[in-house]
Amino acid sequence: MYPSPVVKTSPAAPAPVRPVADVRRVRRLAAQFRALRDAVAALPDAVVLLDDACRILWLNPAAGTLLGLTRPEHLYTDLCQQLGDSAIGPWLRTGGDAPLDDVPAPHDAQVRLALSLIPVGARQRLLLARDISTRARLEQMRRDFVANVSHELRTPLTVIHGYLELLDPEDVPQLAGVLGDMRGQSKRMAQIVEDLLTLSRLETQSGFSEEPVAMAPLLATLRREAEVLSQGRHRVILENESEADLLGSLKDLHSAFSNLVSNAVRYTPSGGSIRIRWERLADGRGAFSVIDTGYGIPAHHISRLTERFYRVSSSRSRELGGTGLGLSIVKHALGMHQAQIQISSEPGQGSTFTALFPGERLLPARAADPGVQP
Ligand code: ADP
Repeated sequence: MYPSPVVKTSPAAPAPVRPVADVRRVRRLAAQFRALRDAVAALPDAVVLLDDACRILWLNPAAGTLLGLTRPEHLYTDLCQQLGDSAIGPWLRTGGDAPLDDVPAPHDAQVRLALSLIPVGARQRLLLARDISTRARLEQMRRDFVANVSHELRTPLTVIHGYLELLDPEDVPQLAGVLGDMRGQSKRMAQIVEDLLTLSRLETQSGFSEEPVAMAPLLATLRREAEVLSQGRHRVILENESEADLLGSLKDLHSAFSNLVSNAVRYTPSGGSIRIRWERLADGRGAFSVIDTGYGIPAHHISRLTERFYRVSSSRSRELGGTGLGLSIVKHALGMHQAQIQISSEPGQGSTFTALFPGERLLPARAADPGVQP
């Protein structure tokens, strides 16, 4: 028999059970870690772990397909620098707070990506990139379809409208009512087509030529437009409380502002007031507001108002010549200027629509060329 006195008597000897349990636990953990790593490696989305100096600590194979990164060449290299030329580099450098949607992949512009950056602990960040090429293609097909249909409808509608204008109801008194209806409807269709074309243009244009837009004459034009539309039924008040002009597209700003003004006139009963206000807020932002004392909007509709064809009351909108596209146009035109729209309303009391512009877009007044006004 093999004696084992040392094992039994020595106090320094390790207990026989613990090491085996530890080894098993370590093995189990290692297996779990491998399974997790394999699962992340198998993801179709690119996953890249970055340190606080934008260096790559880990990446999965999809990062090669989508971002052109490979292991070991790109490990510990500076990703912000490598992607500096694409839209992704500046976004990463500035912290990537908001997700980046629909940008070309760095090595292949046909591949469209959606990216997000997630903080991991205090010093690391996880970059996720997803291939959204199919979605982007479908989105493009939808935009092209709407633009093409609108374009195709424009000419026949103009012809029909022209002939209807030529017909004199006095020549056919028995059809006077019908003619009036036909004229009204063809005008409405033409307006829908024009609004769809404006939306398509705003959606597809990637950049626009920025110009200093003098606010004082633009505000005066808006007031005149409100008065013409109101036909004396409302009190129109202009409050220009800022000495600032705006940097942007005169055409698109005018279109956004006049949509807000025309809504205020149309959704305010006779005897109400429309206030057009331009001011610089304490935080440096510029605020263009249209405040009415009209019908107001119940709270649950407000978040959906900028969707295409969304109306609180379809019959009222149609009656007042609305297309349901005005606020979508406003949202897109403001988005191009990094401006946001804020809506507050009280049913029966009135509504306030405010366009908030970042301080960097505000210019000292009279910097604009007075010749370039609506
Ligand atoms: P529409 O052509 O129907 O006016 P918009 O996109 O401009 O379309 O507006 C969407 C809807 O928002 C309108 O149908 C109306 O119900 C509501 N709305 C917009 N502006 C106002 C306002 N100033 N007061 C009350 N309701 C408004």
